[in-house]
Amino acid sequence: MKGNLILSFVFASMVLFLSSCSNNPKETIKPEYVIVLHGGAGNAGHTDLGEDKQKEYKEKLAEALAIGENILKSGGTCLEAVEKTINYMEDCPLFNAGKGSVFTRDGHNEMDASIMLGSDLRAGAVTCVGDIKNPISAAIKVMTNSEHVLLSGKGASEFAKIQGLEIVDSSYFYTDERWNGLQKAIESEKHGTVGCVVLDKYGNLAAGTSTGGMTNKRYNRIGDTPIIGAGNYANNNTCAVSATGHGEFFIRYTVAHDISALMEYKGLSLIEAANLVVMKKLVDANGEGGIIAVDKDGNIALVFNTNMMFRAYSKSTGEKDIAIFR
Ligand code: ASP
Repeated sequence: MKGNLILSFVFASMVLFLSSCSNNPKETIKPEYVIVLHGGAGNAGHTDLGEDKQKEYKEKLAEALAIGENILKSGGTCLEAVEKTINYMEDCPLFNAGKGSVFTRDGHNEMDASIMLGSDLRAGAVTCVGDIKNPISAAIKVMTNSEHVLLSGKGASEFAKIQGLEIVDSSYFYTDERWNGLQKAIESEKHGTVGCVVLDKYGNLAAGTSTGGMTNKRYNRIGDTPIIGAGNYANNNTCAVSATGHGEFFIRYTVAHDISALMEYKGLSLIEAANLVVMKKLVDANGEGGIIAVDKDGNIALVFNTNMMFRAYSKSTGEKDIAIFR
């Protein structure tokens, strides 16, 4: 009698277990590849950013996304996808990186960029560069072709030139829009960095971020973007993160690494960790901004405590979205 009871209990538990598995088939499917990107976060409202402008931004986000997707689909690596996607956004004057970089208080462009690979924690970055057309590519060269992690100013430019990267006259970075933005020091112009995080077919993660920094910043000010662990981080054990926002807060709260650490040491899921850092810790500190992230299983987080964040993602499973406001 007792034996029968135990047997039926075991059977009932097995049925429950199997049916719960079959009810959630989606959760067990890991996408082959995932790409998430951002074009900066800010407090612009619907009136500051009219319908036409929104459409224009969405078109550019879609084109950037397609570049990365095609690379990943055809078996390219996370590094290739991050570089080419960010290159496209750096060349587009709409975003605050490369061509569209904002101006410092004294009317110059000083750009920062960084890259990190989750497979072996290699990283590279450049800061305060004013003549490298594509700062993310310079950051990658620092990672692959030097023994350093972070190069600044003239030294970074000289290194980039030796590496064969395109050096441009500083006038290349002039756009009327950014110049007027400096003159008005519009609040909503403050953030606009670009970033991209990827999980590739080989299970590797990478994160890249590139920015002109914050409008009206002091010259030689360094933000979170080139600081590994603050504005950018990747680790195959956890996730890849790219941040945008008020850099000083992201440095002080080591935002990108904090999200990874909460997953690694506290066992939080990616979305729990991202929410805790961006929506609680940063909000409590009045630190404005957001992050995009992908974890080793292809889960994603696009979290921001501002009105809007230009953002897009695509998974090999067909899931896709491009958005600006909440
Ligand atoms: N985080 C960047 C910085 O502080 C700016 C931004 O993301 O808009 O330099």
